[in-house]
Amino acid sequence: MPLPLIPTTTIGSLPKPQWLTGTWYSVVERWNLAGAALKEAMDDATRLALADQEAAGIDIVCDGEQRRSTHYTHFIHQLGGVDCEKLKAKSMRGGKFTQEVPRVTGPLTLASHQAVDDYRFLRRFTNRAIKMTLPGPSTMVDGMADDYYGDERALAHACADVLNQEIRALEAAGCDMVQLDEPAFTRLPEKLDAWGVEAMDRAFAGTKVARCVHVCYGYRARLGNKEWKHGYEEIFPALAQAKEVDQYSLEFAEPKLAPKLLEGLPGKIIQLGVIDVGTDEVERPETVAARLRAALEVLPPERLIAAPDCGCTARDRAATRAKLRALVLGAESIRLELAARS
Ligand code: ZN
Repeated sequence: MPLPLIPTTTIGSLPKPQWLTGTWYSVVERWNLAGAALKEAMDDATRLALADQEAAGIDIVCDGEQRRSTHYTHFIHQLGGVDCEKLKAKSMRGGKFTQEVPRVTGPLTLASHQAVDDYRFLRRFTNRAIKMTLPGPSTMVDGMADDYYGDERALAHACADVLNQEIRALEAAGCDMVQLDEPAFTRLPEKLDAWGVEAMDRAFAGTKVARCVHVCYGYRARLGNKEWKHGYEEIFPALAQAKEVDQYSLEFAEPKLAPKLLEGLPGKIIQLGVIDVGTDEVERPETVAARLRAALEVLPPERLIAAPDCGCTARDRAATRAKLRALVLGAESIRLELAARS
């Protein structure tokens, strides 16, 4: 299906049904079923996630990440050179807490193409453009304990190389868009200049699929944390340098950021967050339209895609359906405004 002006998309995850799992984020896999029954349940949940997006009218759909315990472990679990059984405590977010994470124990290799299998499954049920998401190299480095490379930059390059294999395979299978998720960027801004941008470019090198990077602003880190101070201002100069990234997906709704900030990413297509995923309160389509209209003061419509701020996995399912519908109605009204003007 051809995309309209200012198409709508989701950012990867959608809430999971209670019958699949009682948790929306767990490094240790926690499912209500096992074996063939679990696979069938994941397939069913994925078809429901797709149906919800299609019913809302989303143009570029995702699989809702119904098979994933977290945004990054799904990809890491299929890698050779990573021990996902014996986890290791790692100090995270500047020592604020420790988390049990997978260990790198040897050279990283791609043992299977899970994302390609997931893409092919989704393609059987929709003609819409499909975006597949993978963790970015910086987020992979942040989410693993390194007992092999001994150097963050070397590990980031190794992550980029296995990602590059998966992205090429997705492109060959016909996938329309690949998104790398980088919640680590705003937490570790100093790593961006050191090796973060370089690793992101390396992951996408030589690929022609539409290439997007989702950069969390850190709404979860900021909740109840008055000390949180990192922002997009700090990292946009580095992100603007990336040569192999066509699009950035950014959180602008919840932090109420001014669209003028987007001038810091010249030439990039922006998947603009116009839906707050930190609350089940449903936006009015007029609110979505106002946010898009404000962005059009800074960006031409060809560089604008309407999206939620982030994945919707932590939200209520009914609220998510209503939020996606508001997203689509808001984008439609802006398209009508633009058509009336021309
Ligand atoms: Zn995010």
